[in-house]
Amino acid sequence: MKTVTKSSKLANVCYDIRGPVLDKARQMEEEGQKIIKLNIGNIAAFGLMPPDEIVQDMIRNLPDAAGYTDSKGLFAPRKAVVHYCQEKGIAGVTVDDVYLGNGASELIVMALNALLDNGDEVLLPAPDYPLYTAAVALSGGQPIHYVCDESNGWFPALDDIRAKITPRTKAIVVINPNNPTGALYPEALLREIVEIARQHQLIILADEIYDKTLYEGETHTSIGALSDDVLTLTFNGLSKNYRSCGYRAGWMVVSGDKRHALDYITGLNMLASMRLCANTPGQLAIQTALGGYQSIKDLVAPGGRLARQRDLAYELLSQIPGVSVVKPKGALYMFPRLDPKIYPIEDDQQFAYDLLAEEKVLIVQGTGFNWIAPDHFRLVFLPNTDDLREAVGRIERFLAHYRKR
Ligand code: PLP
Repeated sequence: MKTVTKSSKLANVCYDIRGPVLDKARQMEEEGQKIIKLNIGNIAAFGLMPPDEIVQDMIRNLPDAAGYTDSKGLFAPRKAVVHYCQEKGIAGVTVDDVYLGNGASELIVMALNALLDNGDEVLLPAPDYPLYTAAVALSGGQPIHYVCDESNGWFPALDDIRAKITPRTKAIVVINPNNPTGALYPEALLREIVEIARQHQLIILADEIYDKTLYEGETHTSIGALSDDVLTLTFNGLSKNYRSCGYRAGWMVVSGDKRHALDYITGLNMLASMRLCANTPGQLAIQTALGGYQSIKDLVAPGGRLARQRDLAYELLSQIPGVSVVKPKGALYMFPRLDPKIYPIEDDQQFAYDLLAEEKVLIVQGTGFNWIAPDHFRLVFLPNTDDLREAVGRIERFLAHYRKR
């Protein structure tokens, strides 16, 4: 029989968060070994359950939620998203500008598919949330990474952005708060990005899925609130702020001057129709969540569980020789650096693999986030403090062996 091969469209598509190291972890678990997982932002898996009000409404709504809805979604949850935009100062958004999706992921892929011709370029952060690089490649586009500067709080390097713009650049992705670095961008920086987008007629894709997951009283500015002319697609959802990632409930909002984007919007509508609609129970959960219940605040406030876990992971990692970390201001991750003079790692996927095999701790290597060198890894600080202490202790022991190699 003829061999079945994958499409050449997948040649440059890579998603290491669920890659080969995870396959090894699965195999170890099947053999009965216990692994500490610092690899994925699956909040509910760490005992941080969704707000009860959301769960109760899901149960209540389920019997009446078996039908398809309008492709963009039900009116009431989309209206709730409009109100959310009003709260965040994103101007001129109507229900028509809101698309509900099976998580933000689906809408991110849709937005890029509708936008890109073969060879079109999209500016993406390095490190990035790798869905973007994968989705740009899958859409036939060319991912072009701009550097985020670790020595400057992991903020995007504006000169690098400017230097990488070409006539083929169509869009810039801004992930704020950032996965994997935990950086939170100040308004002045966001305004500069808006100005670059304005000058070069770029669309802004703004990922704000962690906009309520903020530590030490920080506040979040939506980049879409900073202009009413630059076309901006803002992605958000319940996965993180409402600890409901399994409910697959996300949204996309189109803001800015839409008059020149009518054709693109027609493309978005077509792709939204092709997948019929987002799951209906998840759509209804959006209405409940945005209607007021909001308890991640307690977890991220000083002394809250996530805040304590962040502080502990930061302290313990910072004490390891040759390891440095920028303390995250938002999200669920940190992206520690391993000094290459002390840890001359050539292949960081192998590094993650060896750490897993030797110490049963699962992390994701930095190059999995399209980082430029094999000298970082991402740690998810969702496990409780006992598990985190144990996990970082094992990482420290592994690194001590590594130094002696
Ligand atoms: N965007 C970022 C930056 C993420 O970190 C994630 C998940 O980890 C997503 C999007 C996916 O969100 P959703 O669960 O809504 O598809």
